[in-house]
Amino acid sequence: AVGYHRVLKENRNLYNELQDLKGNIRVFCRIRPSIRVGNPTQSTIDSIGDDGSLIIVNPLKLQKDSKRTFQFNKVFSPIATQEEVFMNTQPLIRSVMDGYNVCIFAYGQTGSGKTHTMCGRSGGSDTDLGVNYRALNDLFEISRSRRDVVNYKVRVQMVEIYNEQVRDLLGTDASATKYPVYLEIRICPGNNGLSVPDASLHLVQSSVDVINLMNLGQRNRVICSTALNDRSSRSHSVLTVHVQGKDMSGCILRSCLHLVDLAGSERVDKSEVMGDRLKEAQYINKSLSCLGDVIAALAQKNSHVPYRNSKLTQLLQDSLGGHAKALMFAHVSPEIDSYAETISTLKFAERVSTVEIGAARLNKVNGDVHELREQVESLKKALARKE
Ligand code: ADP
Ligand code: MG
Repeated sequence: AVGYHRVLKENRNLYNELQDLKGNIRVFCRIRPSIRVGNPTQSTIDSIGDDGSLIIVNPLKLQKDSKRTFQFNKVFSPIATQEEVFMNTQPLIRSVMDGYNVCIFAYGQTGSGKTHTMCGRSGGSDTDLGVNYRALNDLFEISRSRRDVVNYKVRVQMVEIYNEQVRDLLGTDASATKYPVYLEIRICPGNNGLSVPDASLHLVQSSVDVINLMNLGQRNRVICSTALNDRSSRSHSVLTVHVQGKDMSGCILRSCLHLVDLAGSERVDKSEVMGDRLKEAQYINKSLSCLGDVIAALAQKNSHVPYRNSKLTQLLQDSLGGHAKALMFAHVSPEIDSYAETISTLKFAERVSTVEIGAARLNKVNGDVHELREQVESLKKALARKE
């Protein structure tokens, strides 16, 4: 058993090294189908490559240099299904069950498909279900399949960050929506993802539990929206899944998965908005740019990571960086009138991605990966001999 644990640990170290080489940050781009009736060919999407490349064009300004190329880990075309998107997200989600912290973000302007990716179409069929539901179902499935070796406990929290204030979305106290209670973020070593300890924490055991809770969260969000007119596009919603696994020897593994539907990234023209709207816009700008700064710092392996600059990055602090993994979905609306926002979304996504690491580095990474794979194989053989 000692040998087994050693190999497991070494395997894990190798895995960590491998992840380090590949980078812990992924960026997927997803293009929404055009909802413009009349002239569907007037799109800003020039081409989508299987290799994660994307070419954007401004059809109103056709000059030689009017095309721009971007590179991501993957680009989902408008016909990509929810299932296809989830299949590509699944390995990351599964790693939560092995003790890794994971953050998944939906970024993009309002109407580009963030909520569609994360939640799915409300009132839609099962095929419409988004990443949130599929992720939890997958975690339950893994938990069942490992039942004989690990005892898992899955709990969820859901909060909203609006104007740099944190609010519980799963509180069952009805008066809280009338008199909102703002919660504190408390980061201390060892609290592993439980950074808003006062937000309600619900044990979930089945997808029915999850659906009920998400509906509650959605309702709480809507109640507040009607009072302060629709603000769902101007707040971040963070669904956190806390996983605790206890193995036969009593060892406890803790990790968490944050599923974040970000506020709309559109730039608001300062000359057109005033008062509350201007304040909202400034808070959104600030927190999204902070998030960008944090992820870019992590992607570049900077020694200083500016977590403290926004509530969102504070809340996610111990799940971003280290061996934690992050995935950002950059959502794009293909219509011409979204051209400027599309470019701004893609630039943001490009900045936080680690895709552009250059051919020389890539070759070294591939070589190292090959070597690591061989080591893993020989460890596996050693393990088999021991058993
Ligand atoms: P956001 O949350 O970014 O504001 P939504 O997810 O609400 O955007 O999407 C806006 C509209 O477009 C919704 O009616 C949604 O159902 C639809 N939509 C978004 N993405 C897709 C997609 N990939 N396939 C079909 N419909 C989509
Ligand atoms: Mg939305």
